[in-house]
Amino acid sequence: MNFLSDFSLAGFERQLAAWGCKTSHARRLLLDYYANAGSLDWARLKLPRLLRDRLSAECVMFGSAVAMRQVAEDGTIKLLLQLADGKTIEAVVMPAYQEDRVAGCVSSQVGCAMACDFCATTQSGFERNLSAGEMVEQFLHLRREAKTVGRRLQTVVFMGMGEPMLNLENVLEAARRMAGADMGALGWRQITVSTVGIVPGIDAMAAADLNINLAVSLHAPDDATRAKLIPSGRRFGVDEILAAADRYQAKQGRPVSIQYCLLRGVNDSPGHARQLAALMAGRRMHVNLLNYNPTGVSLSGRAFEPSTAEAADAFVAELRARKVAAHFRRSRGREIDAACGQLRRRSLQSSAQG
Ligand code: SF4
Repeated sequence: MNFLSDFSLAGFERQLAAWGCKTSHARRLLLDYYANAGSLDWARLKLPRLLRDRLSAECVMFGSAVAMRQVAEDGTIKLLLQLADGKTIEAVVMPAYQEDRVAGCVSSQVGCAMACDFCATTQSGFERNLSAGEMVEQFLHLRREAKTVGRRLQTVVFMGMGEPMLNLENVLEAARRMAGADMGALGWRQITVSTVGIVPGIDAMAAADLNINLAVSLHAPDDATRAKLIPSGRRFGVDEILAAADRYQAKQGRPVSIQYCLLRGVNDSPGHARQLAALMAGRRMHVNLLNYNPTGVSLSGRAFEPSTAEAADAFVAELRARKVAAHFRRSRGREIDAACGQLRRRSLQSSAQG
């Protein structure tokens, strides 16, 4: 059985040709599939009989299904999706500032190997990369969720489970299908790929020249603090990562956003803010400050906590006093398993206990 999400336009044309059908149907079918958030009724489509029979017999819309759905009071919807091989991943939609829009967040891997100490995803290890089709399906599930609440999916960030730069070929193919006018038609600038700072990946994404956005999860302004939070920080230093971000920005002409999660007593002092401001000096980058959603005891046995409101306010004031563009990203869905990987971890724990 084929999943429609697995096809590129060229691949679907080849499939139709192999069935002895006209390839000219491929574009319209894929456009309809994406526009209808992944649901089409073959029987109701005006298609040649041979093609309709082949599609009905050999093609299904989704390989994944919603295994769990959590809705927070602020409208955030978190989905636990079960893939065709039984593995699970998370995808999220969050209300955007405009009343009729939502922002989506998708995963790029099952689990994650990066071992960031504050992250729930990595605690159950890395299992495998997601295919482009599996990422496309997350997009379609989220598009459907948006429709059900009378909104439109406006943006997609690859900021869920996994490190996108370690599955870049599939991530970029998924981005092409989501953004391109002949499929998802979301628009290139509506897509952001986030990384903890894999320098070769940033350069490879620049070389792909898709005009999508880059977000760098810095989380600390110096190598020593960063290496304690993000083990890959020992491989790529802050200066090296920002130099790669500079190259990306110069090539794409789009400001890179810097993600910085404030952790109490770890990276949230005024001194850290001044160091970060010094890094941003002369750079046209934007700092997104994130509130930490506690995930329990970390891999190294620590229990990270969010910054106090006073420390967070002082941090942002230090940045703004130095003319750094900085904003707090609103914390979403606190009463559900809001942090990346938490819902999946809870579901894995209950299966193990059950
Ligand atoms: S923060 Fe991202 S890169 Fe780090 S372990 Fe979690 S999912 Fe992986």
